[in-house]
Amino acid sequence: MAFDIDMIKKVYATIVERVDKAREITGKPLTLSEKILYSHLWDGTATKAFVRGKDYVDFAPDRIACQDATAQMALLQFMQAGKTKVAVPTTVHCDHLIQAKVGATSDLQAAMNNSSEVFNFLESVSNKYGIGFWKPGAGIIHQVVLENYAFPGGMMIGTDSHTVNAGGLGMVAIGVGGADAVDVMAGMPWELKFPKLIGVKLTGKISGWTAPKDVILKVAGIVSAKGGTGAIVEYFGPGAIGLSCTGKGTICNMGAEIGATTSTFGYDESMERYLRATDRSDVADAANEVKEYLTGDAAVYANPEQYFDQVIEINLSELTPLLNGPFTPDLSTTVGSAMTKKAQENDWPMQVEWGLIGSCTNSSYEDLSRASSIAQQALDKGLKMKSELGINPGSEQVRYTAERDGILQVFEKLDAKIFTNACGPCIGQWARYSDPKNAPKNSIVHSFNRNFAKRADGNPNTHAFVASPEITAAIAISGRLDFNPITDKLINENGEEVMFDEPTGWELPPKGFEVKDNGFLAPEEDGSHVQITVNPDSERLELLTPFTPIGNEINGAKLLIKAFGKCTTDHISMAGPWLRFRGHLDNISNNCLIGAVNAYNMKTNFVKSQLDGEYDAVPKTARAYKAAGIYTIVVGDHNYGEGSSREHAAMEPRHLGVAAVLVKSFARIHETNLKKQGMLGLTFATETDYNLILEDDTFNFLDLNEFAPGKPLTIEAVHADGSKDIIVANHTYNQSQIEWYNEGSALNLIKKENGA
Ligand code: SF4
Repeated sequence: MAFDIDMIKKVYATIVERVDKAREITGKPLTLSEKILYSHLWDGTATKAFVRGKDYVDFAPDRIACQDATAQMALLQFMQAGKTKVAVPTTVHCDHLIQAKVGATSDLQAAMNNSSEVFNFLESVSNKYGIGFWKPGAGIIHQVVLENYAFPGGMMIGTDSHTVNAGGLGMVAIGVGGADAVDVMAGMPWELKFPKLIGVKLTGKISGWTAPKDVILKVAGIVSAKGGTGAIVEYFGPGAIGLSCTGKGTICNMGAEIGATTSTFGYDESMERYLRATDRSDVADAANEVKEYLTGDAAVYANPEQYFDQVIEINLSELTPLLNGPFTPDLSTTVGSAMTKKAQENDWPMQVEWGLIGSCTNSSYEDLSRASSIAQQALDKGLKMKSELGINPGSEQVRYTAERDGILQVFEKLDAKIFTNACGPCIGQWARYSDPKNAPKNSIVHSFNRNFAKRADGNPNTHAFVASPEITAAIAISGRLDFNPITDKLINENGEEVMFDEPTGWELPPKGFEVKDNGFLAPEEDGSHVQITVNPDSERLELLTPFTPIGNEINGAKLLIKAFGKCTTDHISMAGPWLRFRGHLDNISNNCLIGAVNAYNMKTNFVKSQLDGEYDAVPKTARAYKAAGIYTIVVGDHNYGEGSSREHAAMEPRHLGVAAVLVKSFARIHETNLKKQGMLGLTFATETDYNLILEDDTFNFLDLNEFAPGKPLTIEAVHADGSKDIIVANHTYNQSQIEWYNEGSALNLIKKENGA
């Protein structure tokens, strides 16, 4: 059995007392989100009410899930924590490193050939430390989590932004960086700013061509790509009850596209049906016993404006199918004539080249069955495909069942390519072109979540539009971006006009789910004997060496780069081709800060070395300083390190000898990541002091031996002409974070505390 019923029962055993106490302390009825948050406090039962959007709170998540690209560095770090097992149930899923090219069998084999070293590493580390391992081809992390691990009222974190998908089964599930996951694996609390709450009241009933996907496409259109930032989106109302559990998952999944911390739905019969269908009747039974604690209080939903920070109402009966894009998932257009107009105005290619159905967003049995009902009509009505079609089932269980029930065969009869149960085209792992940069302008429609330029096929000229699986199928068959299956006719092979009927499908397989090998490898009870071997010549994996403490004497440090303007985690540690090196700190450090703009020449990756006065790449310059035993500092502008939570953006500079990052302001997660890696993350007490920093400066930290919470540090900047400026630098280190600094990293401290 993959899931842990005892852990779930433990959560339910405390939820009543903790929620009742939280209701008493806050003096009001509670939303579902608050119930889950307050019942997962690290310190147990609440003793105070937290201020939304302000208070930082320590939580104790129930589970962790990692995907293969992010798990590499997370596990490499965990191996340094000196633990014999992970502290909370954890799984690793191999789904990102599999390319979609020819079709499932050969693509999977190619991935095994190309990335066996990484897969073997993840498998053996999982086995050693008690982590469940899902093999390549087992499925996409979030579909597998929904089928096996998600449970109403639970809290999980995952090293992937679409971890939020598990909200479809009533969880608070949040995407985090590897460093956060490592903390929880090692038995430490996980800190989160207590989120704001957005309530979405669903009324009416979804029907016809409208799908759950259209709910989130509509929400994205209303609130925009940043509208959910710092908030949990909680769906409720009579319309929610009519949605399937996997449909709810789709809606929560794309909460990431509005920047929401996560999204969730209250426990209802659709979730119970899904739990029972996926062989988890014991979870459903346990949930039923505490079900009023697994949804928001009735008083909240009766008067949502009083309890949520923002309320949106959507009448599902009036909702029509939408097509969002191109290049951003919040640009919403109703299918049909509205699209004709917009496409003409914006010169979007009307001819659709590909339809892609799948990804973690829309690859459930229900999704495939509804899309296949459209594909079957094309066969029955003599329609020929006008574009190509690709299908990525979400899991082996979905694939096996869909094949058993003849669903995949319908697509195959239309010459669709059935790709591996993996991310494939959704993460750019789609071998569509040999030279994507020079590929032609074109339109594609897919049922995924993200449609940024180049995301699917690397072609900046591909206009990708997001839709439901059934609309994707219909548009792909018609070949036209502005096709409206509700009103438009198509001409079949006999020259006759035909129309599609409404899609039909099954929420759950009528004959139940079935699978031969779901691809799960349970870890050994005692994995202590498992040897982890990493080839020292590997270019993709490198065991980590603990960072040496920087210490209280930083004198003679040199300026590595003064970054001008926006410096996101992408500028600090680029993605794209560098994904390949996510498990090799030294190799990936060759992308360190290569996207940051040098304030002295406005060029990227071109900085002056004070060792020889020459200009060169940032990583090369940093390595030269490190080899000479000289620490460096990085200076930056506002919101330094915004973007993703990837820990590489902190580990790389640390690895290359950067002792301090001094900026006008930080993106908070990056600031914490710097602290965790045992370096100094500081802000100018006087912002304009940024202008005092000159290209040939040398820095002396005058009072680092008095490093203490709330006490600013004093830095002497010595200019080339011998003149000096004193810079006062603020910091937000608390005492335990100062311990991280003193020990060289948070992991070093954990290891020390474990006596390892
Ligand atoms: Fe991410 Fe796409 Fe994979 Fe989902 S299918 S986990 S969005 S890459």
